[in-house]
Amino acid sequence: MDRRLHADIHRKAGDFELEVSIHSDAARIGILGASGSGKSMTLRSIAGIEEGVSGHIEAGGRVLLDSDSGVCLKPQKRNVGYMFQNYALFPAMSVIRNVMAGLKGTKEENLSRATDMLRRFRMDGYADRLPGELSGGQQQRVALARIMVTEPDLILLDEPFSALDSYLKEQMQYEMQEMLGSYQGQTVMVSHSRDELYRFSDEIFILGNGRILRSGTAQDVFAEPECVEAAKLTGCRNLAAIRKCGQGRIEVPGWGVTLSLDREIPDWAEFIGVRADALRPVWGERTDGCIHFDLERTDELPFEKHFYIRTGAAAGSAPALADIDENLLCWSAKPDIQKLIDERGLPDWLEISEENLLFLRR
Ligand code: ADP
Ligand code: MG
Repeated sequence: MDRRLHADIHRKAGDFELEVSIHSDAARIGILGASGSGKSMTLRSIAGIEEGVSGHIEAGGRVLLDSDSGVCLKPQKRNVGYMFQNYALFPAMSVIRNVMAGLKGTKEENLSRATDMLRRFRMDGYADRLPGELSGGQQQRVALARIMVTEPDLILLDEPFSALDSYLKEQMQYEMQEMLGSYQGQTVMVSHSRDELYRFSDEIFILGNGRILRSGTAQDVFAEPECVEAAKLTGCRNLAAIRKCGQGRIEVPGWGVTLSLDREIPDWAEFIGVRADALRPVWGERTDGCIHFDLERTDELPFEKHFYIRTGAAAGSAPALADIDENLLCWSAKPDIQKLIDERGLPDWLEISEENLLFLRR
């Protein structure tokens, strides 16, 4: 099977404009984007259920859409399986009939294929139940069985775990990997949850306001998000504008520090980010790159504590970031650090070490 997705999609809907390019031969493709960034619209465009889409889409070695030559296959002809956010099982049909619904063979053939698929997903004991009589996780298995039984070239999963509670979520994420294990085609999963996508994806695309901002392996994208929106989506809490002051030095007005770096500062860097758990507490003497520990509030989480530090510096006069308070830093202290705090009191400074800095563009 040709495992290469090419999707150049253009769609304008009201004020929103989607303009994405996704080219990948990865088995598991993840699209990470905030709510409203265009994730569902992207999947609907690939599946052929979004109106007014132009561009070029190829999957499984077939052209599904080519506006230039007037090709636009109907959804049923695309051989693409789409799992909706709420699974969209037929509520009045039994599990087995739901799984048979997309099949075109004789009744006997369909029944035998659907039964096989339910057995593979360990749902054969539930064939005669209605979807409403199943748990969320079981409904998801049926939804995936219904897709897999049609042997699609491409599977699209729209936030598949968002309806599940957290214990079930992790279990289902694991099961999903298992169920997809034997699948030869490509799967695209969209989500706003970085952990889900990090686990799942061979290649990640970051979607912000209808555009792909960054792509790469999950490891690369999380280690070097490269742009502010991607840094936010990968969970980076502390972001600020920088001013370069020559010779490996940058000023961070919002944090009230100037940093001397051994690392090369990329030409394109306009902002920096540092993750909440990458700040280091310092007691006593101030070192270079230290921010005064002026506690504003704390936030107690089950296995870590967040300290919010007011930097007291002038708000960045450099290009500001909308909806980010550059003067507020979040530091996450794990239990071992909290023990230190019990012994020594709150630190005097938070140190930003250069190996943990993320250089970012807008
Ligand atoms: P996501 O799935 O990432 O949360 P969507 O793809 O559902 O986002 O929507 C992206 C944006 O497009 C949203 O701002 C949404 O309000 C808007 N939108 C979606 N469909 C339409 C439409 N038919 N007309 C106008 N705006 C739309
Ligand atoms: Mg959506």
